[in-house]
Amino acid sequence: MAVTSGGNRTQRAAAGALANQLTLPQLHLQILNCQRCVVAGLIDHAAPILPAPSRAGMVLVGQAPGRVEEGVGRPFSGRAGRFLFRWLEEAGLGDEESARRTVYLTSITKCFPGPSPSGAGDRRPSPAEVDLCRGHLESQLALLRPWLIVAVGQMALERFLGPLPMHLAVGRIFGPGGVELGPLDALASSGRPLVLPLPHPSGASRWLNAPEHRALLGMALQALRELVERAPNS
Ligand code: SF4
Repeated sequence: MAVTSGGNRTQRAAAGALANQLTLPQLHLQILNCQRCVVAGLIDHAAPILPAPSRAGMVLVGQAPGRVEEGVGRPFSGRAGRFLFRWLEEAGLGDEESARRTVYLTSITKCFPGPSPSGAGDRRPSPAEVDLCRGHLESQLALLRPWLIVAVGQMALERFLGPLPMHLAVGRIFGPGGVELGPLDALASSGRPLVLPLPHPSGASRWLNAPEHRALLGMALQALRELVERAPNS
C-alpha cells in the first residue's frame, strides 16, 4: 500500500513538468477543452467539471461528476454534495461556500460518465476513462502541491492508497508510504501529502447503512477537524 499522487513515476514527472509551465487557470482551460474520452468513443460528449481556480492547500478527490454537476457546472452540486458539505461543516470547514473556498474539489475523471446500466446511480468510470484523465489529476496535484488529500469513495481511495477496503481506511490518516498516522504525528511529519479517506456521500452507496461504518465516518470527521484546526495556514 502506498500513498502517492497516483500514476507511475513517468506520468508524475510529466505532470510535474507540465505543471511547472502552466498556471492553474491555464491548466483548467486545457482540461475544459479535453475531448479524449469522446475521441476514444467512451462517452458521447465531454463537459469537464472543475472548481473555481484557487490555491487551496487541501484537495478533495471524488469519483466523477454527476448529471446535476454537469448541468450546474460546479463540482458536488447535487445530493451527494449536500451530504458532503454537511460532513465538511461537521469537520470545522464552515458552510458550503466557505468549504468551497478552502478545499479544491475535483475528481478522478472530470466528465459525467452517464447513468449506471443497472439504473442505480451513475456509471463508474471505466479503467480506460481513468487512464485518459489521469494526467489531468496529476497536473492539478503537481501544481497545487496540497498538504492534505481527502479521498472520497472507493475509486479515490484506491488511487491514493491501493486496494484497501473502505472499513480499514475511513477514520484513519495516512502519510507517504501508506503509513498510518495519528493527527498530531501527521502534522509533525514532514511527509506530504497526507491522505484522509471518506466514504462516497451518494445515497446510492449502502456502506453507511451499517452503524459501525457511520462510527468510522464520525472518526474520520473528527480526525479532519483536528488536522484543520491545528494545521498552519490550512
Ligand atoms: S473524463 Fe477527463 S479525459 Fe475524459 S474527456 Fe473528460 S476531461 Fe477528458
